[in-house]
Amino acid sequence: MNCYIHVPFCASKCGYCAFYSEAVPAGTLIEAYLDHLEKTVIPERVSTLYIGGGTPTYLNVRQLERFIGILREKFTFEADAELSIEANPESLTEEKVGLLRGFFNRISLGIQSFDGQLRRRIGRKCSDEALEKAIRLIREADFLHWNCDLIYSLPDESRSDWERDLHSAAETGADHISCYSLTPERSAILGQTFEVDDEREVKMYHAAEKILSQYGIKRYEISNYARDNARCRHNMNVWRGGILRGYGPGAADFDGVDRHTEIESVTGWLKGEACSCDHIPAEARLNEIFAVNLRTIDGWTPDLWQMVPGADDWEKRQIIAAKAASTYPGCLQISASGIKLSADGLLFWNEIAAELL
Ligand code: SF4
Repeated sequence: MNCYIHVPFCASKCGYCAFYSEAVPAGTLIEAYLDHLEKTVIPERVSTLYIGGGTPTYLNVRQLERFIGILREKFTFEADAELSIEANPESLTEEKVGLLRGFFNRISLGIQSFDGQLRRRIGRKCSDEALEKAIRLIREADFLHWNCDLIYSLPDESRSDWERDLHSAAETGADHISCYSLTPERSAILGQTFEVDDEREVKMYHAAEKILSQYGIKRYEISNYARDNARCRHNMNVWRGGILRGYGPGAADFDGVDRHTEIESVTGWLKGEACSCDHIPAEARLNEIFAVNLRTIDGWTPDLWQMVPGADDWEKRQIIAAKAASTYPGCLQISASGIKLSADGLLFWNEIAAELL
């Protein structure tokens, strides 16, 4: 089973963020969250576990110990299970990193930018000292895998600012780097004012591939880069339509037919208020899964496609892809052994996905 747990607490709200979280929650709310998690998590065997947020490392040491205790009690893990947690640099201490290293084998650090001024422009409250310390602690802890999260196309960010961030991230020794362009949702604080600059964004997208590949960190998905054997298995399973169990307010899951999303309210979730169900016809669901995994550079093979719950014939997928290819010439590579987007096609993923749906 792939399992995701949403920890919906943060120290403050960043300007670009539309994820559900409560800023500066009362300690009693966190305790109630942990109590409810303990009551509701289903014991099962887990192959990938991803703890996201929010800021999971906003929890203090005692709360994190309890959280990890719940995971140990409820789940059994496959021998090579990937156990990931997201962390914000300013919330990490030596004690917390030691605790996390005792359970998780992958950590994802939300850096966003190495430039303090750029971080401040998007509302990230993290000092340079806290960032340097967090990176040092993670390096010394020697996680099996670790990721740096970066955001580009920030307000007034130049191409050379971004290139500096890419070099800095690669030089941390992380084996995975995620690079997302700033696209704040309307509901986010920056969503009202920020104007996307498409041309700058495309140049920065190309710079990421060029610079990270010099360090052996290769693009494997539109926004994700990894050294060999360091791709995030949890995300790859989810992109390929794998069954996903989700816990916590705002968490989504997928049972092979429908997606459900828990209510985006800790108090509502504690009361057991109903999740929303995204029920769409089987063919539409297959098209959606088909489109999502075309964000990866490997795309689909017939074998991968057959592992999708309720998969239809590969020949049908070839026909659907060929139709999109006629609208977007040069963007899809279609053969008996695979369907994927070309390098140019990845840039037009949004448009191609809309065509496939
Ligand atoms: S970006 Fe992360 S730290 Fe900032 S508000 Fe969103 S979840 Fe919290």
